[in-house]
Amino acid sequence: MPVNGLPPYDTTNIFARILKGEIPCRKVLETEHALAFHDIAPQAPTHILIIPKGSYVSASDFSTQASAEEVAGLWRAVAEVAKPLEATGYRIICNMGMDSGQEVPHFHVHVLGGRPLGVMVA
Ligand code: IMP
Repeated sequence: MPVNGLPPYDTTNIFARILKGEIPCRKVLETEHALAFHDIAPQAPTHILIIPKGSYVSASDFSTQASAEEVAGLWRAVAEVAKPLEATGYRIICNMGMDSGQEVPHFHVHVLGGRPLGVMVA
């Protein structure tokens, strides 16, 4: 039963295939619980995606189903990746479901920075 317009986890989604090594990525960081790589269509000079290694469709699934270690591991990877941007600032985005326009049904965090990003209106 789809939730927020999202179907159950699809093991053939593009990020699942990146995790399995079937599709290449420009890796930034890999830890026990997370993988970070450059977005293929960057919206800012730095645009990195951080994904958990576990199979979670959405932010909601990740937050409610992942272990404390996985949750901490994911957010520590986000902090690590964003470290070079700390002096000037950055934006974190998680799209969740139909209205957000989430394209890839494997939970991910966008880190954007490297230029003034403007006020976020939508
Ligand atoms: P969403 O809209 O939050 O689901 O964002 C999905 C993001 O994944 C978009 O910013 C895409 O540019 C990015 N993306 C899609 N396919 C790939 C890929 O193969 N490598 C890296 N990024 C990708």
